[in-house]
Amino acid sequence: MKDIATPSRTKDILARHGFSFKKSLGQNFLIDPNILHRITETAGLTKETGVIEIGPGIGALTEHLARAAGKVVAFEIDQRLLPILDETLAPYDNVKVINEDVLKADVKTVVEQEFAGFERLMVVANLPYYVTTPIIMKLLEDKIPVNGFVVMLQKEVGDRISAKPSSKEYGSLSIAVQYYTEASIAFIVPKTVFMPPPNVDSAIVKLDVREQPAVQVENEDFFFQVTRTSFAQRRKTILNNLVNGLPGGKEKKDHLLAALEEAEIDPSRRGETLSLAEFARLTQALEANGI
Ligand code: SAM
Repeated sequence: MKDIATPSRTKDILARHGFSFKKSLGQNFLIDPNILHRITETAGLTKETGVIEIGPGIGALTEHLARAAGKVVAFEIDQRLLPILDETLAPYDNVKVINEDVLKADVKTVVEQEFAGFERLMVVANLPYYVTTPIIMKLLEDKIPVNGFVVMLQKEVGDRISAKPSSKEYGSLSIAVQYYTEASIAFIVPKTVFMPPPNVDSAIVKLDVREQPAVQVENEDFFFQVTRTSFAQRRKTILNNLVNGLPGGKEKKDHLLAALEEAEIDPSRRGETLSLAEFARLTQALEANGI
């Protein structure tokens, strides 16, 4: 039988089940088996690898994952897709579909229950674009024991996730993701490989989860607060952003200046020029100076 992702089979499945796309759920299905090959190749799947998929849709990617990996567990929010997935994934006995919003799911427990004994665990998905960032951040912050992510998302978000300091895309999202992973864009995907085509360009992003975070900080929450505050107004200096954005910043300007000096960061620099290591130094110095 032809791949689910061939345009003719996708159309046939959708028509037979009378399925209509829900834009609000980010439903843009892949209709190009070549892209799916490239995604599974980028993820380096073997039968010793377990895969978590988010949003299987009608199973286009799931089928390729099931062929290449040992086991696939897919979270799908849309109940209407369950009978379709039952049918399209019937040939594969190593797939489990969980009808849950991944943002509300206890993914850690699912991993413990479903992937005991697997050498490697990957998240591979064509993500729903309305919640790309919350999904990635949830899985990273919950410290789900995955080795990496290979995910399709909006190119613009991919650029921000993988951005380096002093570029216009670099911001608190770059830092949050790069704190946990080594991030890169694997390849760009044209709109034409989706049904219906999305309004934006897409990219496959590869995130290799680090064994240790990129920098050592005592208080992660404060580190992320400092980075977000530093980018609150991009055209302002780091000092101005910290004065205006940190609690008690206005009254403690002297302490802020002392912390910047201690961290060897010129107060007139902009947040977008600071590396992760500099943000880590700054966070420690701010704490040491009673901020
Ligand atoms: N994997 C399929 C493909 O590549 O053709 C479909 C990808 S489509 C971009 C996104 C999928 O995510 C849809 O099936 C949608 O119903 C599902 N989805 C949306 N929000 C979700 C959520 N919060 N949790 C789980 N699945 C979700």
